[in-house]
Amino acid sequence: MSEGGPPPGRYRQILWTLTAIPAIDARHVGKCLTCSDRSVDTADPDEAQMWCLKHAGLTRHTGYELSAFQLFNAAITDPSVGEAGLLM
Ligand SMILES: [Zn+2]
Repeated sequence: MSEGGPPPGRYRQILWTLTAIPAIDARHVGKCLTCSDRSVDTADPDEAQMWCLKHAGLTRHTGYELSAFQLFNAAITDPSVGEAGLLM
């Protein structure tokens, strides 16, 4: 059996495009590096930082990671693919 991709001639690559979901802003998360506890993700970066400060006050844990992420939709934008997702 060969390693790597699918057998030649059976599949072909098509073009996909990622688009940020416009109704959803970037989300922010605070994470404790000591116990891996994390805040609920929020649109407000100050809320994620506040979670870290509250967690520090409760636990005396001192290392934190603040991160942000964005939600995307993936859609086929290949002109050779019809609306039903079939190759034309
Ligand atoms: Zn912690």
